[in-house]
Amino acid sequence: MDSLEYDAVIVGAGTAGSLAALALAERGAKVLLIDSKARKLIGKKVCGDALGVHHIREVGIPYPPKEAYDGIFGAVRVYSPSKKYSVKVEGEGLALNRHAFGQWLLSLALDKGVELRDSTRAETLKFEDNRARELKVVDLKGNVTCYVRGKYFIDASGFYGILRRQVPETFGLEKEISWKDVCITYREIRRVNGVEEPDVARIFLDENMAPGGYWWYFPKDTKTVNFGVGVQGGRGINPKKNLYEILRKHDILKDSEVIDAGGGIVPTRRNLYTLVAYNVLFAGDAACTANPIHGGGIGPSMLSGRLCGEAVAEALADPENEDERLWEANKRYASLYGAKAASLDIFRIFLQNLTNDEIEFGMSRRLVTDDDISDIGYGRADFAVREKALKIIRGITRPTMLKNLAETAKYMKIVKQEYLNYPDHTMFPQWVRRVEDIFSEYIQKFIVKS
Ligand SMILES: Cc1cc2nc3c(=O)[nH]c(=O)nc-3n(C[C@H](O)[C@H](O)[C@H](O)COP(=O)(O)OP(=O)(O)OC[C@H]3O[C@@H](n4cnc5c(N)ncnc54)[C@H](O)[C@@H]3O)c2cc1C
Repeated sequence: MDSLEYDAVIVGAGTAGSLAALALAERGAKVLLIDSKARKLIGKKVCGDALGVHHIREVGIPYPPKEAYDGIFGAVRVYSPSKKYSVKVEGEGLALNRHAFGQWLLSLALDKGVELRDSTRAETLKFEDNRARELKVVDLKGNVTCYVRGKYFIDASGFYGILRRQVPETFGLEKEISWKDVCITYREIRRVNGVEEPDVARIFLDENMAPGGYWWYFPKDTKTVNFGVGVQGGRGINPKKNLYEILRKHDILKDSEVIDAGGGIVPTRRNLYTLVAYNVLFAGDAACTANPIHGGGIGPSMLSGRLCGEAVAEALADPENEDERLWEANKRYASLYGAKAASLDIFRIFLQNLTNDEIEFGMSRRLVTDDDISDIGYGRADFAVREKALKIIRGITRPTMLKNLAETAKYMKIVKQEYLNYPDHTMFPQWVRRVEDIFSEYIQKFIVKS
């Protein structure tokens, strides 16, 4: 057994952890990155593999090399349950080679001097005087236990959040994530005879096949498709069973061959109220940063990783103002992504309570158009939707749903504003209560009673 000391110890070398490590190493910190996977397997993850190119620009990394993606798409088309109606959202995206992309991100961090311990599982985090000091890790190759010491720890271990769960109780830190706030997913990568429109990723809304979620058909190239189903947690539904049901009903994947298959969990709620507790920070799925509407988590995991890394580097440089420096991770994340995610979380709750008929009705009336979806996606949640809903309300069917849509848009704006005014750490408890009140009020008024 030995004990080693680092400026920062990061658990998880996925998209969040690699970016946190890169940000710290670029600023001269001594960083240890730990992953339970063997080095060659890092980055291999069950995923839809879709990444909007704007995320790459936003986190300031170079455009990925050719081997890190299989294809490029120019739009996403979202279909109504009957598939009669659809909206198309333009925007360049990459169909990633997820494994190669992960390896490339890792190499960016390692090239800056980050030390990697692969095949090493993080276990117990020991606290002394309200500070995390030491992490017990097990080298899985030789089953050897060792202790690593750090000034700061970053939990980038994905949905299960191995460090998050061990932080002492602190106000506003959600250690357990409710099942209704996650999507349970299953996906297969299939070789097909030919892909129609290989440059369009398709999303299908269908409360029968994908309750509280959707099923997707994301072309990777002209012969390969990433095909999957995500359902809201807590509903007792097996997405694999539904995927095979969809296959039986549709011709789309006739005679295709499965290349890879697997399931996973994506948190689909607003991110944790705080990415910081004591000297531990949380990034990526460990901090619930994925987009609440579509579960796209690669972009926000990289962003949160980078911001956590930067905040730790600033705290290392200015230890007397440690609390304020670390808190910058929260403030910056709230303004760059968290505000949008919180407003989308309201919209997610609205969507998850619609029936197929209501979705069909909304899409047939073009209540939400391509531009609206694009605006909602970019967090400009949106008053065109509200105005439209209020206009249509008069004299037609489904006034409740339309009224709820209009009110949903209002609550989206209110919560977004709270996040744009993310507080200093001294005012954090009051802020958490305000945000929780907004969600409770929304749910009470428009979900419970509708
Ligand atoms: C089926 C599915 C489809 C998805 N589709 C998309 C999509 O198309 N686009 C998109 O943007 N997002 C998608 N997502 C979400 C996206 O994959 C995640 O949000 C993103 O990968 C989160 O990255 P992360 O670095 O936080 O966590 P992860 O990628 O989960 O990385 C965590 C790392 O921590 C390591 N680790 C965990 N525990 C320990 C431990 N105790 N000790 C040491 N190491 C540990 C793991 O080995 C892993 O390498 C999808 C997710 C699923 C499940």
